[in-house]
Amino acid sequence: MIELKYLTKRYGATLAVDDLSFTVRPGRVTGFLGPNGAGKSTTMRLILGLAAPTSGEVLVNGRRYASFPRPMREVGALLDANAVHVGRSAYNHLLCLARTNGIGPRRVTAVLHHVGLSDVARKNVGGFSLGMKQRLGIAAALLGDPGVLIFDEPVNGLDPDGIRWIRDLMRSLAAQGRTILLSSHLMSEMALTADSIVMLGRGKLVAEATIEELTARY
Ligand code: ADP
Ligand code: ADP
Repeated sequence: MIELKYLTKRYGATLAVDDLSFTVRPGRVTGFLGPNGAGKSTTMRLILGLAAPTSGEVLVNGRRYASFPRPMREVGALLDANAVHVGRSAYNHLLCLARTNGIGPRRVTAVLHHVGLSDVARKNVGGFSLGMKQRLGIAAALLGDPGVLIFDEPVNGLDPDGIRWIRDLMRSLAAQGRTILLSSHLMSEMALTADSIVMLGRGKLVAEATIEELTARY
């Protein structure tokens, strides 16, 4: 479970996240919807503990962050798939993350298999398509087998097969009882994948609803 309490993040004059409170519950996919610049990525970085809030707090499974970032066993995230270091193989990239998080190499092999990258595990990430980088980012998110997962625009740049694969993966992770927060700027994508929606605009909560409520309303 993720609990945001009066969360605010200011960058100079920009109020990226503005007094935001909501709860993301386990066992379902919560869509995080809002136009570009609404504050979705900033909120996700605050949840992951990659940035400190200006005020307010984030609890993950009831815990405040004690260190930056939160351990991969607690929260896994796909933020910007393009941010992956080039010059390393997929395997070495994950192995490095695994080592710093006290995770064994067998888990690296397992997550590479899980995302369908076993055949290219030893290839340099520099030659990867965006879709392959998304899969690698998802493998990193799954590395610590965390109960809470955050995916920032995971279907960006994917072909229809890739989008379907992501959708099935989100559904199965939720069915395992995990807490899933999935951001998108596309309502159409959310309607197919999420159980409920948190809508953000200019850093503020605009609406919270189940998919059934939304489709009945619009
Ligand atoms: P979204 O993910 O919904 O597109 P962001 O969280 O990326 O929105 O951005 C929210 C606002 O905060 C934007 O106005 C953006 O320009 C600003 N912002 C985000 N990160 C930074 C940063 N590191 N420094 C300054 N401004 C930032
Ligand atoms: P490195 O330079 O070792 O490749 P990164 O710069 O990619 O590491 O990431 C720095 C830290 O951020 C990692 O040690 C890890 O704790 C955290 N981190 C990176 N990716 C993720 C992720 N997908 N989920 C959770 N935490 C992550």
